[in-house]
Amino acid sequence: MQLYARLTSGHDARVAKALQVLQQAAAEHAGRIVQASSLGAEDMVITDLVARNRLGIALATLDTGKLHPATCGLLSRIASHYGLAIEVVRPEAAALGAFVAQHGEEAMYRSIALRRACCGIRKLEPLSRMLAGRTAWVTGLRREQSAARERVPLTTRDAEGRLKVNPLANWTWADVWQYIGNHDVPYNPLHDRFYPSIGCEPCTRAITAGEDLRAGRWWWEDEKAKECGLHVPDGAGTGVAS
Ligand code: SF4
Repeated sequence: MQLYARLTSGHDARVAKALQVLQQAAAEHAGRIVQASSLGAEDMVITDLVARNRLGIALATLDTGKLHPATCGLLSRIASHYGLAIEVVRPEAAALGAFVAQHGEEAMYRSIALRRACCGIRKLEPLSRMLAGRTAWVTGLRREQSAARERVPLTTRDAEGRLKVNPLANWTWADVWQYIGNHDVPYNPLHDRFYPSIGCEPCTRAITAGEDLRAGRWWWEDEKAKECGLHVPDGAGTGVAS
């Protein structure tokens, strides 16, 4: 946090805009809007904005069965810090069991197709259940995260026509940590060990100085392949990558 938190010009305005976007979405989609949280730093900021301002936005996350123990530990900290109920959505057991039986626990390293199949079973299908019956969802996507996300809008529509809200789209990494520091937001301790982007344990590593913020995700793959399908490159579609 000490490395990145910095008050930059326009920070307060970006916080105010994020809150306004969330308030409007919560009002227009009352009872049908969910934050699909990856439990990363950006999503913790959004959860804090939602809780602090008592916005009617449900909180949900995916437990892929491959999360870091530190990520799992954050769930109970969120519950105790905010008193929020967290909906945890898991992969369908039969499909996951069949995939692992056929391809093994480390299939993701063998080909991009198998890695995407693993993401499909552990993330995309559970996300579709999380979003079923909902008309809007909130993500922590930021334009600065990667070239594939550089055009992420504040709001858009996904492939099913749901409102997709990216309230931190125009935030910097410094904004995220400035907010976390200002509001004592709980966060994953892996961030302090140079994991700016945290996904499943087998598919995330720490980065070194000068590397892209998402360089530690699926690091063995070509840059262009690095989304799990949760979010299409222009930020407009469904998918569920984190
Ligand atoms: Fe599987 Fe890795 Fe995708 Fe997680 S990030 S669902 S372990 S391929």
